[in-house]
Amino acid sequence: MHKHHSALGLAASLRPVQPVTLLRPHAAARAARFFVEKFQGRSMYAVKANPSPDLIQILWDSGITHYDVASIAEVRLVAGILPDAVLCFMHPVKAEEAIAEAYFDHGVRTFSLDSIEELEKIERATKGATDLNLCVRMRVSSDMSKLSLASKFGVEQSEARELLQRTRQVADALGICFHVGSQAMSPSAYVQAMERVRAAIVAAAVTVDIIDVGGGFPSVYPGMEPPALEAYFAAIHQMFESLPISYSAELWCEPGRALCAEYASLLVRVERRRGDELYINDGAYGALFDAAHIGWRFPVKLLREPDSNVRDMAFSFYGPTCDDMDRMAGPFMLPADVGPGDYIEIGMLGAYGCAMRTGFNGFTAGERVIMSDEPMASLYLGEDEDREAVPSNVIKL
Ligand SMILES: *Cc1c(COP(=O)(O)O)cnc(C)c1O
Repeated sequence: MHKHHSALGLAASLRPVQPVTLLRPHAAARAARFFVEKFQGRSMYAVKANPSPDLIQILWDSGITHYDVASIAEVRLVAGILPDAVLCFMHPVKAEEAIAEAYFDHGVRTFSLDSIEELEKIERATKGATDLNLCVRMRVSSDMSKLSLASKFGVEQSEARELLQRTRQVADALGICFHVGSQAMSPSAYVQAMERVRAAIVAAAVTVDIIDVGGGFPSVYPGMEPPALEAYFAAIHQMFESLPISYSAELWCEPGRALCAEYASLLVRVERRRGDELYINDGAYGALFDAAHIGWRFPVKLLREPDSNVRDMAFSFYGPTCDDMDRMAGPFMLPADVGPGDYIEIGMLGAYGCAMRTGFNGFTAGERVIMSDEPMASLYLGEDEDREAVPSNVIKL
């Protein structure tokens, strides 16, 4: 299959009218191998970060065998692509019908919960199954993360004891899981969360078989440069070794962002300039939801030949829809002479970018192409490289 070697060459030769998604399978494969080789436990992919079938296949081919799914549609999706994958249904509030279908039709045995009601629901839906891995989701702090996940789910420390004891009576394997929030900027986020887990285990005096430290592993964005992932893995493993748990207990993690952020970027065109505002052809209802709604900053690069030699200045973006909210504040640093007709690459959109695209106002995704060049930023560069894992059903330009 033909692969493109540079975003600049692609923009110059094709001058696409619609935004183009640039896919880098080698970057996703490299991230997956990194987790498989260096995290001392089981790494399962959190599908919501990017449910692209191509990506799911790439991760499988690179050694990811377990998938964290949160809806029955995600269960069906992964089961359809990878019949041999192990699916873990890690949403603490599920429809009873979804639990039953997952258990009886798709062989799902691992579920999370954060209340007695959900435990009873799981018991009913699985008709009192005795082969369940049940993970109690604990509430932990999101203080060290860029995106909080601390309010919606998780049992409070004070209620964990009863829930752990009740769940122990139902579960074949009892787990404890948590999520420190997305883009955790320090390994100590996991250490503090695991201290809470320790206290809960001691208070409940139950045998725990699985410690699942969830997602939150960071990627790299402008103004957000995290420590090396090895430092996270080492801190987690050290804490795991010190917990009062079954000698055969397993350590799991659920990376979403860290496995797929580098997988995709976006090629957009400037349609208009008004002062320091650029009107581009993708936005808040496309792949830039996080840039619009939570002020996330992504790396940008002007793709022009010859390159501009004008100094950079700060721009904000407007997306293509007629909605005032379709605005990305940035700041995005680009040469001061950027204008209509210019192409810009917006990097690191593989996680929670492409996944949240809508068709609002008639602005849909353009084509997707495979690139062989490196992502605009990487946590894994210098790791061993394998450029062969290319999905087969991606549209070629
Ligand atoms: C979203 C989510 C993840 C993935 O989080 P990242 O920050 O993308 O790593 C993992 N586990 C659960 C339960 C989630 O909801």
